[in-house]
Amino acid sequence: MTSGLTNIAILGSTGSIGCSTLDVVRACGDRLNVIGLTGHSNLELLARQATEFAPAVVVVSDDQRRSQFQLPSDAATAVLAGQDGIVDLVTRDDVDVVVSAIVGSAGLRGTWAAIDAGKTIALANKETLVMAGPQVMQLAGDRGVSVLPVDSEHSAIFQAMQGGRPSEVERIILTASGGPFRNHSLDQLADVTVQEALAHPTWEMGPKITVDSATMMNKALEIIEARWLFGLSIDKIDVVVHPQSIVHSMVEFCDGSVLAQMSPPDMKLPIQYALSYPRRWQGTAQRLDLTRAFECEFIPPDYERFPALLLGREVAERGGSCGAVLNAANESAVAGFLDGRLKFTQIVSACRDVLNNHDYDPNPDLEQLIGLDRWAREEILRWKP
Ligand code: NAD
Ligand code: MG
Repeated sequence: MTSGLTNIAILGSTGSIGCSTLDVVRACGDRLNVIGLTGHSNLELLARQATEFAPAVVVVSDDQRRSQFQLPSDAATAVLAGQDGIVDLVTRDDVDVVVSAIVGSAGLRGTWAAIDAGKTIALANKETLVMAGPQVMQLAGDRGVSVLPVDSEHSAIFQAMQGGRPSEVERIILTASGGPFRNHSLDQLADVTVQEALAHPTWEMGPKITVDSATMMNKALEIIEARWLFGLSIDKIDVVVHPQSIVHSMVEFCDGSVLAQMSPPDMKLPIQYALSYPRRWQGTAQRLDLTRAFECEFIPPDYERFPALLLGREVAERGGSCGAVLNAANESAVAGFLDGRLKFTQIVSACRDVLNNHDYDPNPDLEQLIGLDRWAREEILRWKP
């Protein structure tokens, strides 16, 4: 950190989290300095971001599109490409914090390289922990690196945990909006369209996580993320449906006190907290308006209509190779749903079958996890109901 400024690299700056991170930089520009940005396909937006923030490095992560990317000839920004470009960016000496906001298992390599290089991680890419939680947290421990959550539930838990000691935590309670189909019957769920699944009631997010919210696979992935991030056994992790998305999650301590973190649904707050931690800054996130009446409901989840939650609990408990298989199967099945190959309810059925059919390994290394990721994607392409 130089002159009180935190130097950041944003992996996936053109996505929903990436754009919100740049809003935080706009609001807190005297504290944050952008060293690098990466984008995969929306190169027009990447070029606009590079012009506005003048980073030292921009990475076009899709090698094939590098030739389509142009900056003005007088720009002082170096343009790199591919996953190697991402690794070169995150290992630069002048980067303090890496915001990991690429979607899916594609986020693992850059996050891993950043941890290996000793950088603080602001982690949105939950798939990294789903796929390789024990390995990633072990590396972070070895390198003395903080992995700070950006996911709103995990940020809420991280904040509430500061109200007691780790040994005094009885359980954590992840809140879930329940998605757009919270009140659908099983029959109605079988017929939902892509357009309906992409219309989330409270959060505006990228397409993959929006579909994950509709199946509640997002909450399954978050159970697994919490398991490794906070080192909690599955019997200490609960889920409750809270459609208003105002209480972002809760921690129950051994004396029965429950601490919750509340704010309107706006990712700028958890992003900013990961960047300001252990301090808090003034920012632009929306404020709770308590002059107006509003409801705050808490409803137990329905495991029959949303069986993804059971998969999440099982995978968090078994660990080993299960996370990499579930994560890749889900990414591939969501792509299949968005392409019209799979029906909505088949996303979770296909994941269940692929998980059941894999050769369980209790202690895989990183290369084996990457191999399992590839295998599970191919299995989904072959999957028949
Ligand atoms: P998004 O689809 O809006 O953006 C994804 C970003 O990743 C884009 O910049 C894209 O260019 C880049 N990308 C896509 N494929 C890539 C590849 N193969 N290699 C390198 N880069 C690639 O997604 P998002 O909603 O911003 O989500 C990003 C991550 O944050 C996900 O892991 C998601 O689960 C997590 N997250 C998002 C939210 C949210 O509100 N959007 C909330 C919590 C957690
Ligand atoms: Mg979340």
